[in-house]
Amino acid sequence: MPTQTKENYLKAIYYLQQRNKTATISELAEEMQVNKSTVTEMIKKLADRGWVDYQKYKPIRLSELGQVEAAQIIRKHRLTEMFLVDIMGFGWEEVHEIAEEVEHLKSESLFDRMDRLLGFPDADPHGSPIPAKNGELYRRPYKALSNYRVGDTLRLKAVIDNTDSLLAMLTDKQIGLGTEFNIKKVEPFDKSMVVDYRNCEGITLTHEVCRRLMVEQIN
Ligand SMILES: [Zn+2]
Repeated sequence: MPTQTKENYLKAIYYLQQRNKTATISELAEEMQVNKSTVTEMIKKLADRGWVDYQKYKPIRLSELGQVEAAQIIRKHRLTEMFLVDIMGFGWEEVHEIAEEVEHLKSESLFDRMDRLLGFPDADPHGSPIPAKNGELYRRPYKALSNYRVGDTLRLKAVIDNTDSLLAMLTDKQIGLGTEFNIKKVEPFDKSMVVDYRNCEGITLTHEVCRRLMVEQIN
């Protein structure tokens, strides 16, 4: 089995654990778009390497070693995205697929130099935190825009559950990290929000968008 596949499983377990504390065979099967027996086989291999704790019929957890290993891959992914945007001038909606490939490169010095060239950033271009080399991850306590009320002023710090099409739409609406929103109205019917920001007034954002925009409150 190629290393790349193993690394993608590690990442998938890491993200599922972040959401639900543990991962199950069926969740992984859905995530990786393979059948459950393929997942089970793979998990056994990862357990042999000491990357996951696995007992039949129990949820799957990354071992401490697996946790660090997964964080390294995510570190490489997020540094690459930052490099592509900051140094190479890509849009934030153009970098994920490239980073999916680059994250599997083994050269540690490549990523160390990227890190240095970028001035040791703590987040990627979407505001997701970049894990440290030892696997530690500092998560800031941002809340989703959808939690706030009329009159609140919020600054965009991160976009979660993002897809390239969402990021492209935000760019079209001139929304980026650092954008300051003023909430003018919250529709009782579907919780969509009418907001002002920059030179844009009375822009409606759906609830689906608002729950993905992570913000800090300014006042
Ligand atoms: Zn990405």
